[in-house]
Amino acid sequence: LSYLAEQGHSIVGSRIPWKERQGLKNFLEQIKKSNIKTVGISAFTFEIPWAEKVAEAIRKDFPQIKIILGGPHADTCYVSQKKFEKAYKIKYPLVHTDDNELRRLFKYFDYVAIGSGEIAIDNLLKGKSGYFPVLRGGVPEDYQNPKIANALNRFIVPVRLLKTEAGFYPLPENYSGTETYTGTEGCPNNCWFCTSALTCQRHYVDRKNSIPQLVNTIKQSPKNLIWFDNEISQLPWLINFSKELEKQKVKGKSWMLMCGIDTFATKNKIKAETENIFKLMAENGCLQICYGVESINPEILTNYNKTSLNQGIRDKVLQLTNEAGIIPRAMMVFGGKNETENTLKAFIKWTKSCPALTFRIAYVTPFRGTPNWYEVNRENRWINDELRDNLEHHTTDEPVVKCPVITKDGSLTGEVDAEKLEKFRDFKIEALKEIYNSAEYHAKIRNFIEKHPAKTVVIRGLIYLFEKQGLVEEGSFDHDFEQALSF
Ligand code: SF4
Repeated sequence: LSYLAEQGHSIVGSRIPWKERQGLKNFLEQIKKSNIKTVGISAFTFEIPWAEKVAEAIRKDFPQIKIILGGPHADTCYVSQKKFEKAYKIKYPLVHTDDNELRRLFKYFDYVAIGSGEIAIDNLLKGKSGYFPVLRGGVPEDYQNPKIANALNRFIVPVRLLKTEAGFYPLPENYSGTETYTGTEGCPNNCWFCTSALTCQRHYVDRKNSIPQLVNTIKQSPKNLIWFDNEISQLPWLINFSKELEKQKVKGKSWMLMCGIDTFATKNKIKAETENIFKLMAENGCLQICYGVESINPEILTNYNKTSLNQGIRDKVLQLTNEAGIIPRAMMVFGGKNETENTLKAFIKWTKSCPALTFRIAYVTPFRGTPNWYEVNRENRWINDELRDNLEHHTTDEPVVKCPVITKDGSLTGEVDAEKLEKFRDFKIEALKEIYNSAEYHAKIRNFIEKHPAKTVVIRGLIYLFEKQGLVEEGSFDHDFEQALSF
């Protein structure tokens, strides 16, 4: 949003909680009170059905308002072969524009932003052409047409549809709210299940120049938890950001980010400056780093087109993070082509010795336009048509494609065994229960608190979350959380 504001647009930001009717009502009220001419909606794939409902409601009450859809799903409906090959560095003959999906979307939205939403919207509102086109009715818009700019009148509400804020835990002391920022844009990698490569064309925008302004905004904000809603895998950015927090004497703010392990290491070596950077980040409020570990199985990582780091190096990065007093969170993706009972067991075993303190378990979900999507369609590997067609299932929270761990004969494409599928679906919860209730995990928590007593409150928040999610029993962690009783 700050990009659009910088470009001179009047912006009103808003969040509509996923499927919350009251949230939608509040939003419609907000439109009524403001002089809003255009609404921009950013939605992930699973949020599309809800985004359509939001658009319908806006259209009913405010037929004059133009509605733009952006976000990774919209973006990947229009995938030229050139774009695909540039993004993933592979040739694939099936690449095409997904006309059916676009046609469906145009029933609800006036415009679909392709590429970076902010740039597409800016181009559209200013009536100028640019690298990122905006489609209307399935054909590239005439950017030069000043009528469009006038009709839209440069008022816009980018709306984010939010499924849950649960991911924002652990919370800092005296939590006063969460603010979401985008620190950088894009990602230089091209994992085959991820739309990021398509959206950003592996073009990494390091907004280093905006750091002083960003830090000043954070300083002024009454909220004390900052969530970077994108991958920040650039050391210079992290160093500059931490130093700027120090320079502007920002106190009492905590921040979390997503990061690649390879930000801090080459394939076989930890980067020399890593320890000092973690220290600098921790001293300036870094609370948690979410690492895209994805899998500990080298074959599965290859299937994901994910760089396979030496396992010792991967664990060393997690350990250095932990030692600096930053919570390392391992983000995992299950259900790859080589997923078996054994790979699942190996993961559980690893979690007990590795230095990560929290884990996110996701299931492979083929997002439109990615190599994974083409492959699953070609091999007919969707578990069933409902899981393929109803986008609300595409949250990564449930298995939607076949893999050896759920088929009757242990093959990749065989018939699904209902019992095995049920077990795999439960794996997300059962694995976390096993991990967080293990003696090894209790010992990890104890060690972390002993080394970083100032983080006791945060860890209490983490355990509170596990209790709330039914992953651990209340009171099962016998540590002295006395200081945190006010939580
Ligand atoms: S999964 Fe992460 S590292 Fe891989 S392409 Fe997506 S954003 Fe980049």
